[in-house]
Amino acid sequence: MVIYGWKNVFLKSIKSNKVICPNCSEKATTLFSVSSQHAHVFWIPLFPYRKPIYSLCENCNHALKFRKMPEEFKQEGRLLKTEVKAPIWQYSGLGLIAILISWLIYSGQENKRLNLDYITTPQAGDIYEFKTQSNFYSTLMLTEITKDSVIFRLNDYETQKISGIRDIEKTENYSLDEYSLSREEIKRMYDQGEIIDVNRE
Ligand SMILES: [Zn+2]
Repeated sequence: MVIYGWKNVFLKSIKSNKVICPNCSEKATTLFSVSSQHAHVFWIPLFPYRKPIYSLCENCNHALKFRKMPEEFKQEGRLLKTEVKAPIWQYSGLGLIAILISWLIYSGQENKRLNLDYITTPQAGDIYEFKTQSNFYSTLMLTEITKDSVIFRLNDYETQKISGIRDIEKTENYSLDEYSLSREEIKRMYDQGEIIDVNRE
């Protein structure tokens, strides 16, 4: 269950010496308050999205929401609103999301860089995840590297979903038959996305 909602955080109050209370007709008794409202998910503030304004007469306790205010009250309210900013912590959730996205982009690029490195300097024991001709997924394990080729064993199993690879990637699943491909061909398969990922212990 996702718990979410909205929360008001008080920011500032000022007393206006201009406006006259429409209820008790006293001057300079009205206090204007502004707060910042943010959306939260699991109590983590996501972002502030509005600043509600209220007025309160300290003489007669007459209170008004912004949309019920007479025009001169609204002007005071707008002034106060431009004066104050939502505190930065109300953006925590957005900050976390931005950090998470940057991390995902970074680790994706890092993985690509590593894969290319592994493809160009293969080692025995490297595991290649690849797409089969029937659009399934399987793995192969390098057993020997020569000057121009790699020698490998194929996984006996394949999986329909890429996420299933971790279930079939077991040493005992590799057939004992050995095959070989030129390193050039391996590079071509990687460039064309037939080899999806390379894992090295
Ligand atoms: Zn009043």
